[in-house]
Amino acid sequence: MDISTLCIHGSKDHTHNTGAVSVPIYQSATFVHPAVGMSTGYDYSRLQNPTREQLERIVARLENGIDAMAFSTGMAAVAAMMELFKPGDHLLVSDDLYGGTHRLFAHISMKNGLTFDYVDTSDREAILKHIRKETKALFIETPTNPMMKVTDIQEAAAIAREHGLLLAVDNTFLTPYLQNPLDLGADIVLHSGTKYLSGHNDTLAGFLVVASQELSEKLRFIYKTTGACLAPMDSWLMIRGIKTLAIRMEKHQENAMALAQWLLTHPKVKDVYYVGLPNHPSYEVSKKQARGFGGMLSFKVDSEATAKRLLEKVELVMYAESLGGVETLITYPMLQTHADVPQEVRQAMGIDERLLRLSVGIESVDDIIADLDQALAD
Ligand SMILES: *Cc1c(COP(=O)(O)O)cnc(C)c1O
Repeated sequence: MDISTLCIHGSKDHTHNTGAVSVPIYQSATFVHPAVGMSTGYDYSRLQNPTREQLERIVARLENGIDAMAFSTGMAAVAAMMELFKPGDHLLVSDDLYGGTHRLFAHISMKNGLTFDYVDTSDREAILKHIRKETKALFIETPTNPMMKVTDIQEAAAIAREHGLLLAVDNTFLTPYLQNPLDLGADIVLHSGTKYLSGHNDTLAGFLVVASQELSEKLRFIYKTTGACLAPMDSWLMIRGIKTLAIRMEKHQENAMALAQWLLTHPKVKDVYYVGLPNHPSYEVSKKQARGFGGMLSFKVDSEATAKRLLEKVELVMYAESLGGVETLITYPMLQTHADVPQEVRQAMGIDERLLRLSVGIESVDDIIADLDQALAD
């Protein structure tokens, strides 16, 4: 079945024969046992809920995983994944990481005895140089946020296999519609479902999708024990969002490509970071491992004053955090997503006062361009 069909037909109510086209919202915390020692398959909604189960089934199928767990947020999914590790373990992670993940590692995971090295995971030698005997996992985000660096997932998987490391990939930016890390050798895929999977800037969610029974069992245990599961209503909203994932992603990337090309021609724009531009350093790797380039791009303007004025003058484009929804959002990484990243680290990565990030929505691209054009004018 094609992925666009799967997005629509992958969720069905298997529990009752009502014929409901939309999966019902099972707003029940607990479930009656038919007899002593017997269960309907549902005992308590922290463990499993029929609505959430349908959502998890479809996300697992979209990522070609054997199991998917739906969390209340993307960060809850990352936090649960970190419970796989114990004090003394070392992880190698992408240097240009989502700010919230960086904060979790630096302030919670380190306190719990884990150590990290932040490396440019798009550079194979950099990864190899930092592997030591305590290293247990490689955690990558690709493309990265906001500098759009791409890691070759197959190459990372080969390194991980050779050194006995777990490979986890944050696939939030490209979604399973455009990239399937498990097929490329990853062990765990992570999503902030808040972004493209939900798609409407109205629901928070997170996912872990796994390739093995062993990881499914370990993470299911952590999941039911720590308890950050997705509520039935939000699970239903996610199912609804996913139905239009294919058509949204096509439009997001069509608009992103047009915008990237327009930005390149603007005299006040100095650099454009979009993996779909043939001169992007990772263009070829992207073409090899993904079915498209997605809807995220960053750009640098000529001065801090231009950046700030643009943020104040946009009307259609909204100055707000987050990404992946139908509305075009612009963020100022230095002050928002990456505010907690130490300044020298930020500067070294190129995240400065002239850098802006766009989550390109699915409005008419002419309207987005007209708005940015007026906001960039003197
Ligand atoms: C937003 C985001 C997260 C965190 O997800 P929340 O749903 O906001 O908790 C993790 N990784 C990436 C790449 C994100 O964009």
